[in-house]
Amino acid sequence: MPTGSCLCQAVKYDYSGDPLSKAVCHCLTCRKLSSGSSANLLIPTTHFRITSGAPKSYTSTHESGMKLTTHFCPTCGILLYKEADRKEFQSAVIVLAGTLDRAEDFEKAKPEAEFYVKDRASWWPGLDVQQLREFS
Ligand SMILES: [Zn+2]
Ligand SMILES: [Zn+2]
Repeated sequence: MPTGSCLCQAVKYDYSGDPLSKAVCHCLTCRKLSSGSSANLLIPTTHFRITSGAPKSYTSTHESGMKLTTHFCPTCGILLYKEADRKEFQSAVIVLAGTLDRAEDFEKAKPEAEFYVKDRASWWPGLDVQQLREFS
């Protein structure tokens, strides 16, 4: 079962089953949250659980207008997952793939889609993926 954690190990999670989708996002919010673009896994809420610690959360309005809640470690500040009120993200959490503990799980997080390609910097390489979405 894939497991993930923050930098200080206070907050840990795991999930079962396969992600609903795997995507890299280049939106302006992900840029700020992740120092560039973010690799994300969409996991059904029922398959995801916090196994240690209690993340703090912060809700803001995403540039697309949806409500975005970020969940992060109160001690080290690492962002672990997000929730958004857009229809396709309901009943699911958006896990930051970079917080996975094992290299083989991160390898399996290979994206199938790229979001907000219009905001991708010219020096950031594009991926060889089928799906490109702007969500505008
Ligand atoms: Zn931490
Ligand atoms: Zn994004």
